[in-house]
Amino acid sequence: MAKPAQYRAKRDFHKTPEPQGGSAAELGSAFVIQKHAASRLHYDLRLELDGVMKSWAVTKGPSLVPGEKRLAVHVEDHPIEYNTFEGTIPKGQYGGGTVMLWDRGRWEAEDDPHKGYAKGHLNFRLDGEKLHGAWHLVRLKKRPGERQEAWLLIKSADDFARDAGDPDILAEMPRSVATGRDLDEIAKDADSAVWNSNKGLAADHRADTKAES
Ligand code: MN
Repeated sequence: MAKPAQYRAKRDFHKTPEPQGGSAAELGSAFVIQKHAASRLHYDLRLELDGVMKSWAVTKGPSLVPGEKRLAVHVEDHPIEYNTFEGTIPKGQYGGGTVMLWDRGRWEAEDDPHKGYAKGHLNFRLDGEKLHGAWHLVRLKKRPGERQEAWLLIKSADDFARDAGDPDILAEMPRSVATGRDLDEIAKDADSAVWNSNKGLAADHRADTKAES
């Protein structure tokens, strides 16, 4: 996504009713966190860089406590279109399970994101609906035989950080930012979506489909 600086430089927003592009647009690129009830529940953090979503599977999910470093397994890049995906991946398919849009917004690296990503140390800010402020992603030294890179996701100490005894953001805000649904509701809606899509079929075929579920 292009930065709106040039757009803004050409306009006087005291005189034109055009949108300025608010603070969210100023802050870098898209990020999402998808809560994913696969064989194990995890949270997929995706940061837009060079036209793709760089992705990490955060096994325990993000913590607002700076001392709680969360393992973030680096996984394959996802397309930007994935940022709006919420629904159920069929059983037996890769990553089978329910996916919820847990958070979304903009992210911005504090220094050159390409260097940081290559070096394995990204310092960045999040401006999401749930997560805010400064964060680090730090790559651990690769162990022999390790297939995927292990990184750590760590909250920096700032106004958005919490103390160890404070409420856990994951428990406090468990629902979808897109639809307000919890995982069970998304899963149930997916079942009914499959059922609805069969409405046009012959009644006997429908009966078969129902019998299988
Ligand atoms: Mn996942």
